[in-house]
Amino acid sequence: MLRLMKLTALGLARSSGLIEAIAGNRWRQSRLLILCYHGLSLKDEHQWRPMFVTPDFFRRRLEILARRHYRVLRLDEALAKVREGSLPPKAVVITFDDGFHDFHRFGFPALGEFGFPATVYQTTYYSDHACPVFNMVLSYLFWRGAGRRLDGAHYGVPGVFELSHETEHTALVDAFVAAARKGSYTAEQRNEIAAAIASELGVDYAEIMRLRMLQLMTAGEIGEISAGGIDVQLHTHRHRAPLDERLFLREIDENREWLAAATGVVPKHFCYPSGQYRSEFWPLAARRAGRLRNHLRSRAGYPLIRSAPVAQVPRFHAGDGGRVRVVALRFFFLPAASSRVSGEDSRSWN
Ligand SMILES: [Zn+2]
Repeated sequence: MLRLMKLTALGLARSSGLIEAIAGNRWRQSRLLILCYHGLSLKDEHQWRPMFVTPDFFRRRLEILARRHYRVLRLDEALAKVREGSLPPKAVVITFDDGFHDFHRFGFPALGEFGFPATVYQTTYYSDHACPVFNMVLSYLFWRGAGRRLDGAHYGVPGVFELSHETEHTALVDAFVAAARKGSYTAEQRNEIAAAIASELGVDYAEIMRLRMLQLMTAGEIGEISAGGIDVQLHTHRHRAPLDERLFLREIDENREWLAAATGVVPKHFCYPSGQYRSEFWPLAARRAGRLRNHLRSRAGYPLIRSAPVAQVPRFHAGDGGRVRVVALRFFFLPAASSRVSGEDSRSWN
């Protein structure tokens, strides 16, 4: 019946505060709400992609959680309470994916101000390179360059491309990434290509670099947030979950070793990059038993019911501009199968 209510409930929640009405009831109390954020805009990223919100937006979310007495728990603590059946009312866990520099700049201090714990799922390859994640910055530049034409021939991508705000430039980004991979370009060479494209599109690349837009936190910053109480966990080294078992485990191992060196803490929780979780991986990760405690899918999912296995924990995407009330409802009602993928590798960040 709850699923049947899904569509109407979403609309209803916007006006009625239904989530508040159910916040204290037993059904809600047996469920943990895990909020999933990605980035906090350093400039206008939130206008480009809903995975970014403004720092103000994020701050207001924290204010709501505090004002309405949500219990913001550490991930470990919350999952232990789920297992024991002792979850407090209105339990929430805050998570950030990827570990962009903007978390260090805005997220970390804001969370500290409210005294809220959080988990960052940190991918690490680009943490060693002082430049934006290549495929991300290309997509951003193509969006900023709306109305312009880009001649790809200089970059090994034949064709002249009309750019617009409306088009999702995924295929074009993939073509540029493939060309860079074919040329075995280093992260620094890719950054030079991005700078050249920016110049061609009339976008100020010096500003992108100065603000450190779409750059990951450095080892120093990750060490700092970890020392400051942020829980830093696994998200693969190159932001990919290869279908090949050996490569998949290598991604986890490299990511774990990198993070352990930066923080002095061995991470145990794993969140699939790009929401591409695969049930085939579960036994692989389980072979790292004692090291990997839980996997989290990175897209909206179904409710974590008290009796559900904690090995697979769904989360709700909170960075889509939705209000917390709606956010919570969507978390409650989205069906389990909504973000299953099969047969495709995820997009690598290297
Ligand atoms: Zn990610």
